[in-house]
Amino acid sequence: MSAPYQVQFQPYQFPLTFPLVTAHGHWTHRQGIIIQLTNDQGQTSSGEIAPLPWFGTETLAQATEFCQQLNGWITPEKIQDLGDYLPCCQFAFGSAEWGFADQADQTDKFQDLNYCQLLPTGKTALDYLEKVPTLSCQTVKWKIGVQKVPTEQAWFLQLLAKLPPNTHLRLDANGGLNLTEAKQWLALLDRQRQDSQTTIHIEYLEHPLPLHQLSDLFSLAQTFQTQIALDESVASVAQLQSLYDQQWPGIYILKGAIMGDPRRLHHWLTTHPIKAIFSSVFETAIARQQVLKLAQRWNLPYYAVGFSPSITNPLEPIKKATKN
Ligand code: MG
Repeated sequence: MSAPYQVQFQPYQFPLTFPLVTAHGHWTHRQGIIIQLTNDQGQTSSGEIAPLPWFGTETLAQATEFCQQLNGWITPEKIQDLGDYLPCCQFAFGSAEWGFADQADQTDKFQDLNYCQLLPTGKTALDYLEKVPTLSCQTVKWKIGVQKVPTEQAWFLQLLAKLPPNTHLRLDANGGLNLTEAKQWLALLDRQRQDSQTTIHIEYLEHPLPLHQLSDLFSLAQTFQTQIALDESVASVAQLQSLYDQQWPGIYILKGAIMGDPRRLHHWLTTHPIKAIFSSVFETAIARQQVLKLAQRWNLPYYAVGFSPSITNPLEPIKKATKN
């Protein structure tokens, strides 16, 4: 048996800069757990458990219980055998252990990344664009599926007029449309793509329909020109494999921090060529760096990652407050 690692863990909570409004509801605070492994040579490496239960992951309570029952120690064998019912714990412990190998090998070459700015949901995006002189990224994302289609489509057309030239725009319905509404949106997006007067580039529509309407998502992908991206349907490597086997023709959004051990995802991607966009779950800098490392190798070239350009570590104010 390999030498066990000493485990320390620390729960965290911070308010999101902008409360997130999606078809899943309102989300105002991110909670998670930072873990730290120490190996038998005294080296340390960190990982992050950032659950997203509405994507089918473990809850924070389940992750906390798992960390507590370790009693301060975990073996490499146990990390390898962590069940798929704890995908965020798998990510945290797997990426922390991978970090030890990284400390020894820094030779890999990676592509540079472009980032994506999430606009406020609904009409607030229009007010926001009135106020800010410039955007932080050339790629932006706007959530839909929160208001009625005619209302949102009217805002969408105003949004196109307000965005800077050559902006790349992604829409995300978070599974919040029905089939009729999805067709209305895709028809509008297809028309927009063919409009030679505009320089706004529509990249894709994310999850127009709920997860259980997968066959309808396939038929939409075959009917419309605008690319469709799957996100909520790709919460694990098993789901990724299943969609790959069914030959999903569109984009796969990979939220690396909830998809289990990153070494397993990395290995899968070496043998399965897909159009992958790596995306955030509003994690701290710890998981962010580990997911971006995968993105540098596997994100679809010339497409931004689904992460904001930079973050001040959201845990810093909490640490400072604790010190004072
Ligand atoms: Mg999404």
